[in-house]
Amino acid sequence: MKNIKDFSLDELKEEMKALQEKPFRAEQIFQWLYQEKVKNFDEMTNLSLELREKLKQNYTMCNYNIIKKQESKDGTKKYLFDVLDGNAIETVLMEYHHGYSICISSQIGCKMGCKFCASTGIQFVRNLTAGEIVEQIIAVEQDSNIIVSNVVFMGIGEPLDNYDNVVKAIRLINHPKCLNIGARHISVSTSGLVPKIYKLAEENIQCTLSISLHATNNKKRSSMMPVNDSYPIEELLQACKDYIEKTNRRISFEYALAKDNNDNLEDAKELVKLLKGMLCHVNLIPINKIEHGMYTKSSNENIMKFRDYLNNHGIVATIRRELGSDIEAACGQLRRQNL
Ligand code: SAH
Repeated sequence: MKNIKDFSLDELKEEMKALQEKPFRAEQIFQWLYQEKVKNFDEMTNLSLELREKLKQNYTMCNYNIIKKQESKDGTKKYLFDVLDGNAIETVLMEYHHGYSICISSQIGCKMGCKFCASTGIQFVRNLTAGEIVEQIIAVEQDSNIIVSNVVFMGIGEPLDNYDNVVKAIRLINHPKCLNIGARHISVSTSGLVPKIYKLAEENIQCTLSISLHATNNKKRSSMMPVNDSYPIEELLQACKDYIEKTNRRISFEYALAKDNNDNLEDAKELVKLLKGMLCHVNLIPINKIEHGMYTKSSNENIMKFRDYLNNHGIVATIRRELGSDIEAACGQLRRQNL
């Protein structure tokens, strides 16, 4: 059966026509799904019984089961969801002074093989559909009784490796009749799939692009991220420049600092050279240690020196607050889990 949350509003109108129903029923269904957040078709009380029956026969609603929920001492919550096919994904809810941010997964497993990330090393299973991506937000909002204001595609998976579903999910999240979260409050993070960055620049979506850069030369970056062998730094930065030119949006570069690997002042100098003049921001992440990982966190002192060097040389840099590391909910700590 089809997941009713996989449809855009226009597509759902077509579905209604195929069921010999009026297209405006799609708008009513959207209202129930995304504003009222109901869990079954019977609650859609302004639809006829007959239509509710038809919906039940033709579609599922993709209500995730919560397998496990952990809460960090800083209030961050990590959810393990049963995605209804024997697989499970993780989603993280964080509270900031400006509201709630949710970190969502885009794939079950990941193919990218980054050496420092726990989402690697487990087999890739499949892409999530657009509806399955969006469902993470709905399920967390329902369970925590909150409204999410920021969405980051930084959970399990490489969003641009699941391009069509992710773009569709962004449009749903953004749509006024769906979750109505501003595009500027949606960030997509990529390990650097260059052709997809060019493609995303053409979509006319005002979302924020984050690039997992992590190193300033190809040798080091390739040793951390195999994707760099296919798309080296020069090509990646060229794609970023094109993205900025086309969208007028500032790019965010993520740089996870690992002790004695990429955290000394020489690296900071090279980073300044690479990014000088670009409309960008650098997000420094104290690297989180993962099981069997070969990297350890830089000292606080090095992290601050690194940040100060960038800021003093014209590159805006901030240190990402570490949330949820006590429950393995921090960057790079999410894994695919079996039921
Ligand atoms: N696949 C996408 C999104 C998922 S990762 C990407 O690579 O961008 C989200 C961010 O966490 C990325 O910047 C990633 O490089 C970073 N990350 C991964 N493992 C980490 C770790 N152990 N410590 C800190 N950050 C990590």
